[in-house]
Amino acid sequence: MPISATSAKPAQKLMSADDALARILAGVPTLPAVETPLLEALGLVLADDIAADRDVPSFRNSAMDGYAVRGEDVASAPVELRVVGEVAAGGFPDRAVAPGEAMRIMTGAPMPDGADTVVRVEDTDNASDVVTIAAATPKGMAVRNAGEDLRAGERILTAGTVLRAAEIGLLASVGRARVLVRKRPRVAVFSTGDEIVDLDAPLERGQIRDSNRYTLASAIRATGAEPQVFGIVRDSPDALRAALREASAADAIVTSGGVSVGDHDHMKPVLSELGTIDFWAIAIRPGRPLAFGEIKDGGRRVPIFGLPGNTVSALVTFELFVRPALLRMQGRANVSRPRAKARLLDPIDKPDFLRVFARGIHDAEAGTVRLTGPQGSGILRSMSLANCLIDLPVGPSRIESGATVDVILTEQSEPR
Ligand code: AMP
Ligand code: MG
Repeated sequence: MPISATSAKPAQKLMSADDALARILAGVPTLPAVETPLLEALGLVLADDIAADRDVPSFRNSAMDGYAVRGEDVASAPVELRVVGEVAAGGFPDRAVAPGEAMRIMTGAPMPDGADTVVRVEDTDNASDVVTIAAATPKGMAVRNAGEDLRAGERILTAGTVLRAAEIGLLASVGRARVLVRKRPRVAVFSTGDEIVDLDAPLERGQIRDSNRYTLASAIRATGAEPQVFGIVRDSPDALRAALREASAADAIVTSGGVSVGDHDHMKPVLSELGTIDFWAIAIRPGRPLAFGEIKDGGRRVPIFGLPGNTVSALVTFELFVRPALLRMQGRANVSRPRAKARLLDPIDKPDFLRVFARGIHDAEAGTVRLTGPQGSGILRSMSLANCLIDLPVGPSRIESGATVDVILTEQSEPR
């Protein structure tokens, strides 16, 4: 399948995707650390090391419902032991266990002194005065020792760790109701273009619905950042200036449209008043034009990403350049998606001087990848059907079916 009709080399010098990403990652700030309630910290990056405040569990307890005994009394079975009491989770044993004795005990209850072993209730007759132990039980069985999960003073998480459910649980077990994490970026997003209208407006001749703002706001949220959705900005310097001023209260700005060659006349002068920006032609398809820079807002530097307007170009350039930047701003060390090698099922023709990110359906079990269908930069269904981008390097102009290609697994969860 041919990837494009137009494959003439542009007059403007092309930048490689790797260079563009390296410049972007070098240009975005890591956001400050903020204290956050534990339940709001999922997916954020821990900003300091965490030590256990005490042993977890903090006391020796039973892992089973059964009888707390002395190991030497149950080395062989059957044996009868005198039941001297009962202890449940949340209670505390009122006496010790002496030779020939047993205490009924529930899961999580503190072990009585003297006892070092729990015989599970299934291996007994469950009696309350004199219990018959039916199975020989090794010493130490079903006892959880203090500190066997975490030791008091031990460093259990390090700065830079991405908090998943398990880490949130660890923080809870050491009593951290609030944690210091990298701030969740607030990312302003707006669309530009005189032809763009919002979803509730009637669609007049020549107008198109604004899908990019919805796509991009969702893609922003999927990185863990918080989108701040602005409206549609008309192709006029005043409108653009006002929108950028308002948006610069955010931690980053993402726009779509108006950055193609011959179409960026407003962005350029307005941004040179408010900050600095570069307009790049990147040697990729889709998404050749891209603007990156920063707006100065007091002492703050607010990164701005001007993405191309075509729906696929906007989302692919977000995936390649903005997503890594937003993850880096959140303090993530690894900002890359996982990759795989796959056998290509469809031949692909492409311009030899461009790196092409074709939308693919990767079958991990079969080790194959095929195209989603038509690959035009306005065919958003190609993204909706895809679970990967097929990363085809600069160089070849035809990739035969059967060739081994690189795929970027865009459906995988965020890197850690
Ligand atoms: P531009 O990058 O401004 O030249 O836009 C290129 C093309 O992308 C336009 O002709 C539109 O068809 C499309 N486009 C621009 N902005 C949007 C948007 N917000 N939502 C959907 N399509 C858009
Ligand atoms: Mg436009």
